Order: sequence, then C-alpha cells, then structure tokens
Amino acid sequence: MTAENRTPPGREEGPLPETGTAVPAAADPVERLLAEVVEETQPAPVALHHDMRGRGAIVTGGSSGIGRAIALELARSGVHVAINYFDDGDRRTRARAEATAAELRQLEVNVLCRACDVRDPAAVNAFVDEARETFGGLDILVNNAGIARDRALWRMSDEQWQEVLDTNLTGAFHMIRAVAPIFRAQQHGKIVNVSSVHGIRSEFGLANYAASKAGLIGLTRSAAIELGPSNVNVNAVAPGYIRTTRLTDGVAPEVLDRARERSVLGRLGDPQDVAHVVIFLCSEQARHITGAVIPVDGGHLL
Ligand code: NDP
Repeated sequence: MTAENRTPPGREEGPLPETGTAVPAAADPVERLLAEVVEETQPAPVALHHDMRGRGAIVTGGSSGIGRAIALELARSGVHVAINYFDDGDRRTRARAEATAAELRQLEVNVLCRACDVRDPAAVNAFVDEARETFGGLDILVNNAGIARDRALWRMSDEQWQEVLDTNLTGAFHMIRAVAPIFRAQQHGKIVNVSSVHGIRSEFGLANYAASKAGLIGLTRSAAIELGPSNVNVNAVAPGYIRTTRLTDGVAPEVLDRARERSVLGRLGDPQDVAHVVIFLCSEQARHITGAVIPVDGGHLL
C-alpha cells in the first residue's frame, strides 16, 4: 500500500458521503488536521533525510579519545573533517594528530590537520578560514577540546583555574564566534559542544572543570537562541565516564569502580557511545532539536 492510497487512521468509521456527492476538504476535520501537520514553517531546514556526504566539519581535539571517535564517525558518513592539535612543543601530540589524519584519509574524505590552540582567537579564526577554503564550505562544528586540572579548590592555583576555563569554555566561544558568520550567511549549520555530567552535578576537586562545563551548557543555550533564527542547531552532550586513555591513565582505579557502580547500566562508556549521539545531532534527523543537553552517561545522573 502506498502513502497516497493509505486511508488515514480514524477515517474508516466516519459517515460515508452519498454516491456522487463530494465532501469539501475544508469541511473535513481530519483533512484539515493533516494539512496542518504537513505544512512546513519558516525558516526551511534542508531536507529531512539529507545525506551528510560532502559536508565540512571541524572537530576540535579530534586527534584523540572522544574527538577522534567523532571525527572517524563523521568521515564514515562522508563528511570532510578538520582536526587540530595543541602544539605545546611536545612532538607526540603532532604525531598523534597526523596518525589520526591518516586514518581519516583512508575513509576517502578531505582532511585538514593543523596546530591550533583554541584559547588563541587569531589561531581559531585562521583555522576556521582554512577549513572553509579547503572543503569549499563549512557546516558542522564540534567543540570537543578540553582539559582537566583537578584539585581541592583551596589548593587550586590561578593558572589551574584559568587554563581550564580558557580551554573548555572560552575556546568553545572563540570557535562559535568564528563559524557564526558563515553559518548565518548560508542559513544552516550544526554545533555540538562536548560538556560533561560534571557540568550538571559536580564532585570533589572539580571546581574549575565543573564551572567550565556548566558554563558550556549556558553558552550552548545562548548560542541556540541567537543562531536558531538562522536555522543553526546548537546542542550539547554530557558524557559520563568514558574509557579514553586520558581517563584510564589519569584517574584512580577506585574512582573508575565507583563510576561503574553509579552507572545504572553497570559500565563505563566508550568514545563511540558519545560519537553516535554527536553524529545524530549533526544530522537532519535532529533538525528540531536545539539548546538541548543530552547525557551520554549510562544513567550516572539518575
Ligand atoms: P583527550 O585528552 O583524549 O582529548 C582532549 C583533546 O583536547 C586533545 O586532542 C587535546 O589536543 C585537545 N586540547 C587540549 N587543550 C587544547 C587547546 N588549548 N587547544 C586545542 N586543543 C586542545 O580527552 P577525552 O577524549 O577524554 O575528552 C574529550 C572531551 O570530552 C573533553 O572536552 C572532556 O572534558 C570531555 N569529557 C570526557 C570525559 C571522559 O570520561 N573521558 C567525560 C566527560 C566529558 P592535544 O592532544 O593535541 O593536546
């Protein structure tokens, strides 16, 4: 049965018109309801099942952990991907970024891999311009770059506070400000910010991190309000404990055991668990979601 000849639900029991008499569409409440449902409102989003192939994306911190999983998942959908690395003089970060870039190229998309400190607005602007020129356009921004410097707040130095706020929150602001004119001019774009469950509920030693991730949720909502009229969706994900090397190398085993117990699903997440949700938010299937914060935490926050 095709969509055209299918009888709408509830129609079967209605009074049948006498042979030869036509019921005017406007007089039929079901027809009126259906007409209202199918009517599109402005601004018109791109087609609902639009293929992401050929789009251009930036994933900050895309060389490792969650960012790498997001970059790979976008590339698997045919999206050209720009990743950055933080050039602090440690050659290993560059080598790691280039290894991820090589993996991405194997998926037959265009790839840009550049040093860019998200705390530096001039570097961010140059990175965004180069990504747009390389891909012939830019459609997606994932603000994933982030650091942690955990300490009891009475022992926390100004540097530890500032570095985390500058990277996790101000860095995302720099990126959004740089892509906003592009997304507004083309009347579409997708932004996903990687916040954390700790932006919603904190724990001991996380004053700087929790403040930055809560701030990122506020930034998400503000950007959603300001860019929504230009058909730009801005959302956040709030991962729980995710098994990246940073976590498995840097967090005490008893903390991870507690996190596993706290998750009602009884496990830590994998980077792909976050990546799949981010890809959904970047797709047109999520066109009516904006300003949302989606926990990807196995029920940690319940
Ligand atoms: P990683 O350390 O693997 O990734 C962090 C990325 O951020 C790195 O690629 C790093 O680049 C980049 N980065 C750091 N500082 C800067 C900077 N100043 N400029 C540009 N890039 C920078 O960690 P994860 O994959 O675990 O974390 C990714 C995101 O997910 C973070 O925002 C984190 O807060 C968040 N998150 C992680 C959770 C987890 O359990 N793992 C839970 C909840 C949220 P480089 O390697 O070149 O230094």
